[in-house]
Amino acid sequence: MFKRPLKTWSTPVTGEQSRLIPCILCGGARLRPSLACEGFTYVRCADCGLVQMNPQPLASEVARRYQEGHGADYLAYELANEKAFLQLQELALQDAGFTALENDLFAQGHRAILDVGCATGALLEILKDRGWEATGVEICTSAQAYARAVRNLDVRSLPLRENHFPCHTFDVVLASHLIEHLNDPRAFIREVHRILFPGGYFLLTTPNIGGFQARLFKNRWRSAIFDHLFLFSIKTLSRLLRDCGFDVVRVCTWGGLAAGIAPQWLKQLCDRGAKHFGFGDVMVIKGRRR
Ligand SMILES: [Zn+2]
Repeated sequence: MFKRPLKTWSTPVTGEQSRLIPCILCGGARLRPSLACEGFTYVRCADCGLVQMNPQPLASEVARRYQEGHGADYLAYELANEKAFLQLQELALQDAGFTALENDLFAQGHRAILDVGCATGALLEILKDRGWEATGVEICTSAQAYARAVRNLDVRSLPLRENHFPCHTFDVVLASHLIEHLNDPRAFIREVHRILFPGGYFLLTTPNIGGFQARLFKNRWRSAIFDHLFLFSIKTLSRLLRDCGFDVVRVCTWGGLAAGIAPQWLKQLCDRGAKHFGFGDVMVIKGRRR
């Protein structure tokens, strides 16, 4: 019926050490097989519904993927897709009501924004031009060096926590297609909470396993890749955000069918339906720090 959708770029499956972990959302151990992919497996927690790669590669091994070896490949991939990715990020911000948020914060003199996993800094550059005091974090050293040298941006190469930003440094934190790559998303969200100003905003974009494409393609879903350790739904990510001190103030999803796998009229129909009903392939969740 459908041609095979192309999966997102990923580190090739390696023989890294991995271990079984309890559910990171509820601590439960009743984990049921969910998606069997080539060389790795996702399970679904019977108690809270979180889908997680399990056994899971060790954090030290995952960190090495982004710091060594694949850096040049990743930079080439980011540069080749920069315009398309930027467009999607701008649409996500639009869906999250970013312009109103920006006007509101600027009027109060709040201008500090952090983009975690900012890649080559394309979005950060636009934000800086709009008047934000923009900081980036990018652990892929080739992408970070590019953002600094070519775009003259303040981009740090250490993982978020190791930068030791003071409490309440930022008014907005963005993380696009990042959280699904982390071994400890809870610790990450807690750190974002610590460095955000009370009342500040956290905009998280990630694939939506509750979406239409995930349900249709299962283990062939483009986001079921070795680099994605967690596949969140609106429900599981909202719960994690609330656990870590955020109110979920807005959720949007988009993308009914990937380009090229169905006729344009069908894609447009699916895209509209998915957005309307919350079954889109990717979601943006806006959290407000309590
Ligand atoms: Zn659970």
